[in-house]
Amino acid sequence: MVRIRLENIVKKFGNFIALDNINLEIKDGEFMALLGPSGSGKSTLLYTVAGIYKPTSGRIYFDERDVTELPPKDRNIGLVFQNWALYPHMTVYKNIAFPLELRKAPKDEIDEKVRKVAKMLHIEKLLDRYPWQLSGGQQQRVAIARALVKEPEVLLLDEPLSNLDALLRLEVRAELKRLQKELGITTIYVTHDQAEALAMADRIAVIREGKILQVGTPDEVYYKPMYKFVGGFLGNPPMNFVEARVEDGKLLISENNYIPVPKQYRQIIERLNVKDVIIGFRPHDAEVIKGISEGIVGEVYSFEPLGREQIVTVSVNDSIVKVFAPEGEHFNFGEKVTIKLKEGSVVLFDKKSEKALE
Ligand code: ATP
Repeated sequence: MVRIRLENIVKKFGNFIALDNINLEIKDGEFMALLGPSGSGKSTLLYTVAGIYKPTSGRIYFDERDVTELPPKDRNIGLVFQNWALYPHMTVYKNIAFPLELRKAPKDEIDEKVRKVAKMLHIEKLLDRYPWQLSGGQQQRVAIARALVKEPEVLLLDEPLSNLDALLRLEVRAELKRLQKELGITTIYVTHDQAEALAMADRIAVIREGKILQVGTPDEVYYKPMYKFVGGFLGNPPMNFVEARVEDGKLLISENNYIPVPKQYRQIIERLNVKDVIIGFRPHDAEVIKGISEGIVGEVYSFEPLGREQIVTVSVNDSIVKVFAPEGEHFNFGEKVTIKLKEGSVVLFDKKSEKALE
C-alpha cells in the first residue's frame, strides 16, 4: 500500500492551464473521489498520477519515492477507464491474464492469480467466454479484474460505471466499495456524479477549472461547503441559495422578508463586516409552512410528490428554492408559504467571492 502526494502540479496544454497548482495527499488505503463538472481537469489529474501525462511542473510522490519521471508501467498502478475496452478476440481468462503475460510471469502463477481475482469479482464462471458474450456489468468486472491482477499498489478509475444502466451502477458501486476496502488499495476515482462520490469515497476532492476547491469527507463537503459552487454541486436537489443584505442583526431578503443572523455567524459577520451575503441551506434542513410567519417568505411555484415525501419549489424574490415536505400536505400554486430553517444548518457565503464566511 502506498500514500500518494501531489505537490504543486501544473499541467498545460499549449497555453491552456488544465491543472492549476494542485496539492493533494491521498492516504494509505484511502478511497479518494475526484469530483467536478465536465472539463474541470479530473481525468487530466488521474492521467498525471498514472504517468500518461507528464506535469508541466510539480512533483508526484508514492510514499517517499518521487515517481514524476517514471513511465506508467513502472508505477505499479491498475487503471480502469470509462470505456473498459476488452480485447474482443481473447477470452475473459486471457483478457485478465494479459498484463501478467506481458510480464512473462510463470504459467501456474498466472493461473492462480487470474482465478483468485476472478473469484473476488464473481466472474469465475465466465472465464471461457468472449467479451461479446458478457453483459455490460460483467465486462466492467473483467476490466477491474484485469487492473487488479497485477496486484497494483494504486488503483486509478476514470468514470468506470458511467456506461452501466442506473440499477447496475448501484449494484457495482456497492461491490466496488467493498472490494476496495477488502484489498485496502489506495484508490483514486474520477466521477462527475456527486451521488457516486458521496456514496463511495472516504474523502472527496471537488475540482473546478483545474483547481481543487475543497477536500473533505462526504459529510464535510456536503454540510460545510467552503464555496457556493461546492454546495450547489453536491446533493439532489442541491443546496438552496437566497441573496440577502446584512442589516441590524438581520439577513434582509426583501422589505419585510428577513431572518435573524444565525447565532454561529454573529461574530463572524461583525468581524468581517460583510454586507452582501448568500444564504445557503439544504432542502432537508428546512420546513415549509403555509401562510406568512417568521422565516423566509415565498410563494409556491410547484410541488412534486415522491412517495413518502414531496418536493415543494418556492420562489423567494428572484430565487427558486426546493424544500421537502411530508406527503399528504396539500399546497396550491402561488400560495404564500414560510420556510423555517433548522437551527445551525445555514451556511453563509460572501456574495462577491462566493466563499463561505468563516
Ligand atoms: P470529463 O468529465 O468531461 O471527462 P474532466 O474533468 O475529466 O472532464 P479533462 O478531460 O481532464 O476534464 O479536461 C480538462 C481540460 O483540459 C478540458 O478543457 C480539456 O479540453 C482539456 N484537455 C484535456 N486533454 C487535453 C489534450 N490532450 N490537449 C488539449 N487539451 C486537453
